[in-house]
Amino acid sequence: MQTEFPPSRAEGLERLRDFVPHAGRDYAVRRNHDEPGHANVSRLSPYIRHRIVTEDEVLQAVLGRFAPATAEKFVQEMFWRTYFKGWLEMRPSVWTAYRAGLARAQDRLATEGGLRKGWERACAGATGIAPLDHWARELVETGYLNNHARMWFASIWTFTLGLPWELGADFFLRHLLDGDPASNTLGWRWVVGLHTPGKVYVARASNITKHTGGRFGEVLGLATDPAPAEGPANPPCGAPPVSEPWEASARTGLVLTEDDLSPGWLLDDGLAPVTTAVAAGVPHRSPLAVAPHVHAFTREAVADARARYGARLGQPGPETGLAPGETRAAQTEALVAWARAHRLEQVVAPYPPVGPSADAFGDIRDALLAEGVRVATPIRPFDQRAWPHATHGFFRFKGRIPSLLGAIRGLRAA
Ligand SMILES: Cc1cc2nc3c(=O)[nH]c(=O)nc-3n(C[C@H](O)[C@H](O)[C@H](O)COP(=O)(O)OP(=O)(O)OC[C@H]3O[C@@H](n4cnc5c(N)ncnc54)[C@H](O)[C@@H]3O)c2cc1C
Repeated sequence: MQTEFPPSRAEGLERLRDFVPHAGRDYAVRRNHDEPGHANVSRLSPYIRHRIVTEDEVLQAVLGRFAPATAEKFVQEMFWRTYFKGWLEMRPSVWTAYRAGLARAQDRLATEGGLRKGWERACAGATGIAPLDHWARELVETGYLNNHARMWFASIWTFTLGLPWELGADFFLRHLLDGDPASNTLGWRWVVGLHTPGKVYVARASNITKHTGGRFGEVLGLATDPAPAEGPANPPCGAPPVSEPWEASARTGLVLTEDDLSPGWLLDDGLAPVTTAVAAGVPHRSPLAVAPHVHAFTREAVADARARYGARLGQPGPETGLAPGETRAAQTEALVAWARAHRLEQVVAPYPPVGPSADAFGDIRDALLAEGVRVATPIRPFDQRAWPHATHGFFRFKGRIPSLLGAIRGLRAA
């Protein structure tokens, strides 16, 4: 596949530079349009999701150009990501419940022929619903979809085709270059009426026609008055995760995950690893095979991070969680062997958030502790400040945006 998303920081920064002049009113007016090429939105999500470019940097660049009121829509969209990350951190059982629901839906595929055919047709872009078929193919071919297309897709998948939403979320997670356990799981739950209980997002034919320039012709047969998907109520909000500080004097190995490929904030703070390994969770995004372009993007983004930080990362350690089919047991074993070989007293990893990274890192942490190696997972200041506010709906969280912006270095308080 000829990627439209070269996995390097240089590319992410160039995109950001090109997009900044459009992040004000242009974005507010045009963001909901599904335009070929997607020049109306930033297309930064694969870079932000892996923190090849960080939220602070994007917000600084945009608010360096526009007043907060002019860039309000874009800033809010950026904070949807942060809100979802924080919301899931304080309710990790929603991720586990999604995986359990997915396993049940996959069992049904094995025994219900009709469901299996419907699922296969939807994934192949062969349902006969022209826009849905287009988006399914676009997703598989490019690893990206516009936000509005994701909403329409999730709605049609669930309410018109009657397919379990977890199978759709899994289809997305296997193909999206920005596939993120929080934004994806909660984005789907939001559409199907689980995140805001009882409130569903209904894909309307007229809305699709209006925002796609009518290029799919008349869209017929969409569900018009669907009931919310069934599922357990949102669990109560737990405590936010705690940032674990590292010990400056310990012989340290750094572990990178695919959630934070810019460890400069740790290195600038005095972290001096003798070696750096990688513990990604790409094969663990799904029980099924993850698309080759997702593996390739993450692998090359890791190589780019190594090249950027060079000797500051110490000696190169094993790169795990990047290859198709690699098991969590093999990953843990490789990292324990690495810690032994380098006589590490401490392993530091930027906090692995709920999802495949945390799932994989949980095993690794236990195994390292059993070897007497100290483990520290510091949380980025941006997340530490914002996540605890994701207690209720986005509306309440939104009220915190001015003070969160005020805390970003170099930004005037909004
Ligand atoms: C069903 C569904 C699944 C989704 N799955 C993912 C996912 O796996 N990973 C992912 O990063 N986003 C996901 N999103 C959110 C959103 O669609 C993408 O972030 C956005 O389309 C990325 O394109 P962009 O970078 O051009 O966005 P822009 O419109 O330019 O927005 C800038 C940035 O803000 C953030 N953002 C924008 N909209 C949202 C949103 N609604 N929710 C969360 N963050 C947002 C992203 O980091 C994005 O890069 C999903 C949305 C839905 C409805």
